[in-house]
Amino acid sequence: MMGTEISVYLWSDDPEAGQAALEDVFAEAVRIDHLMSTYRDDSKISEINRRAANSAVAAGAELFRLLEQSLEVSALTDGAFDITYDSVGQYYDFRARQRPDEKTIASELENIDYRHVILDPSTHSVRFLKDGVRINLGGIAKGYFVERGVAILRQLGVRNGIVTAGGDSRLLGDRRGRPWMVGVRDPRNDGQVAISVPLQDEAISTSGDYERFFDEDGVRYHHIIQPSTGEPAAGVHSATVIGPYAVLTDALSTSVFVMGVDQGLRLIGTLPDYESIVIDAKGQVYFSDGLQQLATGSTDPGNE
Ligand code: ADP
Ligand code: MG
Repeated sequence: MMGTEISVYLWSDDPEAGQAALEDVFAEAVRIDHLMSTYRDDSKISEINRRAANSAVAAGAELFRLLEQSLEVSALTDGAFDITYDSVGQYYDFRARQRPDEKTIASELENIDYRHVILDPSTHSVRFLKDGVRINLGGIAKGYFVERGVAILRQLGVRNGIVTAGGDSRLLGDRRGRPWMVGVRDPRNDGQVAISVPLQDEAISTSGDYERFFDEDGVRYHHIIQPSTGEPAAGVHSATVIGPYAVLTDALSTSVFVMGVDQGLRLIGTLPDYESIVIDAKGQVYFSDGLQQLATGSTDPGNE
């Protein structure tokens, strides 16, 4: 679902109630997909992409809020995160090994700019300032779903669980007295874990260049787009962000991937509850300051 694999684990003393809770979370994935998928012509996002350059489109409160959050992250990241990336991104088809030619990128690049998206809170409506602008919530919708999934479980009285969609996980409680161990994949060794992180009651998102890609002439063409060039972002193999809110860990993992090691970790350093692990194109692993201290068991900032 949602173009990726979704999994839900939970503890329940009552098998029937547990099964019903699983089904509620999967139904939520279907609901969100119907609202936000660009692969469906009948989704609200597709309607917005068709019509918002001509007239304001009412998005509904829920989608409107996520669009607001998307634009907030764009401002925070100086445009590294930008849902209008799809103005060029739509011309990539990784399964068919297709990418836009230089002419297409040159002509569509000016349509990538989150400031082309105008939100009206009084009507929850969306308008594009330009023809050719296209939005896609692929960098934030899975985080939204796992956050919603855990909210549903909590409401049903579940206290220990984990909801995962692709590279995004939201943990509910701990693993019955022990932390959950969440693995960050080794970006160049399928099925291998590079780092395991003990976590509880938090979200963790990883963006990688190995999720959707094809290789051509030694270049990896993948699904995370540098908005300033319209080409796949280079320099990083995977970016992981850990924090309390999956909507933000998802958007920020995409952002850190685009921004690269230095700028990305500097940004995360300004966000008190968020940490990051970045694996660069040489396989070198970098930690944000808070994790660095955990890893070395020291709280002395002078300690390397
Ligand atoms: P995944 O879990 O699929 O790896 P990511 O969080 O890494 O998801 O986000 C990748 C997705 O984000 C892409 O498939 C695309 O839909 C969207 N995306 C790509 N580049 C950007 C960008 N610069 N800003 C916002 N979203 C992006
Ligand atoms: Mg992300």
